[in-house]
Amino acid sequence: MNSRDVISLGLGLEAPWEIKGQILDTEKVPHELRLTIKADRGAKYPCPVCGAMCKAHDFKVKTWRHLNFFQHHCYITAPVPRIRCEHHGVKQITVPWARKGSKFTLLFEQAAMVFVRDMPVLTAARILEMKDKRLWRIIRHYVNQALARMDLSGLKAFSLDETKSRRGHRYITVFIDLDRKEKPVVFATPGKGKKTLKAFKRFLADHQGKAENVVEVVSDMSGAFISGIKTHFVNSNITVDWFHVVQLFSKAVDEVRRKEAKEVRMPRAARWATLKAAESDLTEKQLDALAELEAMDLHTAEAWRIKELLRWVRRATNLRAARWRLTWFLNLANELCDDKKLLAPVRKALRTVEKYREEILARWISEHSNGRIEALNGIFQAAKVRARGYRNDETFITIIYLLAAPLQNLLKST
Ligand SMILES: [Zn+2]
Repeated sequence: MNSRDVISLGLGLEAPWEIKGQILDTEKVPHELRLTIKADRGAKYPCPVCGAMCKAHDFKVKTWRHLNFFQHHCYITAPVPRIRCEHHGVKQITVPWARKGSKFTLLFEQAAMVFVRDMPVLTAARILEMKDKRLWRIIRHYVNQALARMDLSGLKAFSLDETKSRRGHRYITVFIDLDRKEKPVVFATPGKGKKTLKAFKRFLADHQGKAENVVEVVSDMSGAFISGIKTHFVNSNITVDWFHVVQLFSKAVDEVRRKEAKEVRMPRAARWATLKAAESDLTEKQLDALAELEAMDLHTAEAWRIKELLRWVRRATNLRAARWRLTWFLNLANELCDDKKLLAPVRKALRTVEKYREEILARWISEHSNGRIEALNGIFQAAKVRARGYRNDETFITIIYLLAAPLQNLLKST
């Protein structure tokens, strides 16, 4: 076996293709190994439509980047024929070492995909010594191919949440299958609100799924999401994730604290102390800050106490108990707020809870464990790191799919 045979094997070359030349160009930095592949004059090639062996009509010379040969970049050049088929006319053939339209060999692309599954795209592009823009194009191709094959016929319950895709007011909304433990992401789309549910319904239909089969949707308390669910997933029950209830009150407490800090001097650790839960590990400074807030009879302390009461509601073991506790919570909290001006953010949060009371209580009869939203946040963070340096809606969505969607046969080229 000579060196040409070794390279032929690596490329998956088969008749009529043969390596006809190889030169190492040492003028280039890094050096370039240039391989020329040709078929013998008069060779026949399969028609891309029917497979019949046909003669070449004309040729066009093309070049592909291949895996590095040691430290040298490697390029393959070949005159690619268009054939003339009796039935299908003049057609461009597909070469066995690259997919249509790509400037890279299949082996190069597969190596690239292996890299990007484990490291940020920018890092992979540096190791492969290529522009990250080109690498993104490869990733997008393979992810979209795998995505097109995704089968959602079994989808019965989903959860959705939005995240900022980059600075400013750009969002993407991500949908996860609540019955899928591993790789739960089934859809991601730019934007937020009601229109994303319409987009998901269409995507579902394109992937053997049915909106009518969805029996449960877990969401936050955004009116736009909830109205979208009611419009597009008519057979579903809506459950508000408890995480969002707590988040609503954490934000309210923080708002009260910021407003109050303009009027009175607050203990320095107040911000962190009020963001944390009573049972979590507070530092000594934070404990002092809480005690001081209480002693000074501040509205921030009142708001924080109301937020902490939520834990008691959460610990209810059945729907009846939960309903009773939630009612009691709302009454007491409203009473505590009274008409104190600074507590307006808390009153607003209480009104939201009242509005979505049934959806919040649904978690006690839900068949799907909550806490999946937190898993989503982990995915968002990981995707942000992977797409660093080249993050827009599209690349961010591609990486989320790559990391967290149930993609099958990711390396299948067509
Ligand atoms: Zn044909």
